[in-house]
Amino acid sequence: MSFGKISKEAIKELQDALGENNASADPGLCAVYSYMNSMGGSLLGVWFPMPVAVVLPSTTEEVMAALRICKKNGLKAKPHSSGWIVLALSMSQDCVIMDLRRMTHLEINKEDGYAVVEPYCSAGEQQVEIMKLGLNSHVNGAGPNASNLASATSCQGSGGTSQSMSNSERNCLGVELCLPNGEEVLRMGSPGTPNAGWFCGDGPGPSLRGMMRGAIGSMGSHGVYTRCGMKCYPWYTKPFHCEGSPPFFDARPLANYSLRTAFWPDYDSECDALYRIGESELTDYCARLGPGAYEEAASTSNEEYMSMVESGIYRNTFPKGAWTFSIAASCPEEHDCRINILEKIVDDTGGIMIDPVDLGNDAFQVVFQTAIRGCYIFKAAFMPTGSWSCFPPMSYETIDNIWKVNQPVNCEIKKDMIAKEAISDDYYDNVYASLDEHSHFGHDESPYHIDLWEDKGMDLEGYARGIMETPRKKIPLLYSPMPKNMGTYGKFIRKICDLLDPDRVMDSIVGKFFITESLDKIDELEKEPFRQKAKV
Ligand SMILES: Cc1cc2nc3c(=O)[nH]c(=O)nc-3n(C[C@H](O)[C@H](O)[C@H](O)COP(=O)(O)OP(=O)(O)OC[C@H]3O[C@@H](n4cnc5c(N)ncnc54)[C@H](O)[C@@H]3O)c2cc1C
Repeated sequence: MSFGKISKEAIKELQDALGENNASADPGLCAVYSYMNSMGGSLLGVWFPMPVAVVLPSTTEEVMAALRICKKNGLKAKPHSSGWIVLALSMSQDCVIMDLRRMTHLEINKEDGYAVVEPYCSAGEQQVEIMKLGLNSHVNGAGPNASNLASATSCQGSGGTSQSMSNSERNCLGVELCLPNGEEVLRMGSPGTPNAGWFCGDGPGPSLRGMMRGAIGSMGSHGVYTRCGMKCYPWYTKPFHCEGSPPFFDARPLANYSLRTAFWPDYDSECDALYRIGESELTDYCARLGPGAYEEAASTSNEEYMSMVESGIYRNTFPKGAWTFSIAASCPEEHDCRINILEKIVDDTGGIMIDPVDLGNDAFQVVFQTAIRGCYIFKAAFMPTGSWSCFPPMSYETIDNIWKVNQPVNCEIKKDMIAKEAISDDYYDNVYASLDEHSHFGHDESPYHIDLWEDKGMDLEGYARGIMETPRKKIPLLYSPMPKNMGTYGKFIRKICDLLDPDRVMDSIVGKFFITESLDKIDELEKEPFRQKAKV
């Protein structure tokens, strides 16, 4: 852990602007924001640079005020919504964490089918409220606890319902962005036009979605997003209802809603089936879990987890992982028709399909609640070591590339690391994947579990191998484009940051990784082959 300093005057200014209880430089409190034994933390260690202060703004005006104070005092600011990943922690020693947990507002426009959310309205809260009105929304694989706004504006956004409800950023219908200087608020999409509402991301105000997102979002580098419009979709059946206590709530069955679990003997037939399932626009939820993920999700203790590993209950049933599909139809006829087509495709391609009820009630509840609310992926992530991460390659890819290029690289690395006992034996093929918009394209990642407090716990070697393999196989490293264009891409990302934050107020991860070009040199990008090709 490293320590920076904040002057008494600066913390006083923050307290005067936000209220005495909403700005603190207390080392005990700041330390809480520097520990994360999770994704990325496994690579870098569990302690991150300690922020010099933490602030809790509650309005757009307070966010602006805090940004102005940071700028004036030479401090950096890091937005933090639900803080589910390490990139929401400080990366510098002079950073103020802007924890947005007091900004919880949710506003629903039923007629036009959208919701307007603030940073700490979670994906789950939005979903619960809109389901009462016959609407539904995408919950990304991070689960219902994560911020919908953060996922839509700043950070990734993929999950099993991407198949029918797209990735979080594609549902983003306009934003309010506090620019890093704390002087201007930029409204993109229809909110940019007074009284137009939040219905459209592509104008009449400026449409800057591509610039806002890049590959997976700017991770807090562009300023602080304070409001965002989210597209909603129809939900034909009753609101989802659960009873009982964690981890296995009992969810009530839903009309015209079914689940199926399917697996194939080899990747060729699996790919063929996935292309056909997408092209038929059949399923609402579509994601793959490895057998290890079932053990992690369905066990209630590490003892039970180990007994599942030893019995091989999931490893023997579907050693090559299993896909979950859901069908949420508007009437019984549509439901039966979609199930029949799904059965035929799985049959034609040599797969096996079961009703997950046959896996037992616990496994069924895991599958059911994950398909609707993304509930159990994070349980799987933190069992059994309490920590996880992913080796590269981790990417958005075509179905063939996922299974025939990325997955073998991931599995080879994991097998070796498991053999050395550097990471836990969660079965080497624990690849998680989801597909987008009934297309040929999807997201895959290869999670592993590690306990850095254990003597042999070590994952750097796996990272190094993944990084070396990606250029050789010409695959993206961590969502970035093909290595050939990576330099150009990075320079554009950096240029956008320079335009929005010339004074470097934001605690920017982009600024740290793409530090190659100064602003005046960036115009040279016009000469790059990539750019010339686009002009032709
Ligand atoms: C177990 C686990 C599973 C995950 N699975 C998935 C998955 O399947 N799909 C997926 O897409 N992601 C996944 N993630 C990654 C990530 O947690 C999600 O993308 C999540 O939705 C982001 O929301 P958050 O509230 O966690 O954001 P935070 O952790 O608070 O922030 C994420 C990034 O966005 C920035 N940010 C946050 N709020 C703002 C704001 N208001 N303005 C500007 N910048 C902001 C932060 O600075 C940070 O860099 C997973 C993470 C974990 C821990």
